[in-house]
Amino acid sequence: MTSPGTRRLPVVGGNWKMNLDRNASRTLLMGLRQRLDGLDGVEVVVCPPVPWLSDAHDLLAGSTLHVGAQNTHWEPSGPYTGEVSAPMLRGVAEYVLVGHSERRWAGETGAETNRKIRAALAAGLRPILAVGERLEESRAGRTENVLHLQVNQALRGFTAMPPEIILAYEPVWAIGTGEAATPEIAQARCVAVRGMLAERFGEAAAQAVRIQYGGSVTADNIAGYAAQPDIDGALVGGASLDADAFTAICRAVAARAG
Ligand code: PEP
Repeated sequence: MTSPGTRRLPVVGGNWKMNLDRNASRTLLMGLRQRLDGLDGVEVVVCPPVPWLSDAHDLLAGSTLHVGAQNTHWEPSGPYTGEVSAPMLRGVAEYVLVGHSERRWAGETGAETNRKIRAALAAGLRPILAVGERLEESRAGRTENVLHLQVNQALRGFTAMPPEIILAYEPVWAIGTGEAATPEIAQARCVAVRGMLAERFGEAAAQAVRIQYGGSVTADNIAGYAAQPDIDGALVGGASLDADAFTAICRAVAARAG
């Protein structure tokens, strides 16, 4: 449970995935700026595809909205055709998603997630580390083992919890399916993840970490997550492509903080 006196600023991320052409991206960015600039009580991070990151940087400059990338390579430069490095992202993004299940599904290993986190931190980016179990792992009662393994692999070698890192608990079975975890289950998993961080880094460090819930979050169900004491915002996929829906989600999260 959250200690009395612990206040974490919730953060809502919008993961656009591989969606939107340039015009649609610019329209959405301007719409989000219009609706969300200056909103207190929540940090808003917009994560467009790589080609639109510099538009996002320019169109959101001077606003309270932040830009995030969806992935990074672990090497700073080299013969990695099609990849983008953390130092390259630094000019246009402040955050970067790492370990998203859609990257793990495409072959990213726990060791690579760890290298990406290190690369992001070295470049001055703030990693948003996604962890979550698959349906078969959930059915087999292995959720906490999976989360434990993913957290430990991703943070391998760290002796203190880097304060820049945000975690996102994203059950794979809830991503893009419309089958969101109940707020109570999501809360319990976030508590479990926080407990794992406390084991590794101590209670005070764990209490300071922001842990989002992600998986079929919508404007209609966000209030349930926002009300949970250990859920510090949301990582939003599909609903982040709709300016009104994403705005409603950010406002609901900000309202809980107020
Ligand atoms: C995501 O992409 O991280 C995600 C949670 O997607 P969705 O909200 O569409 O389930």
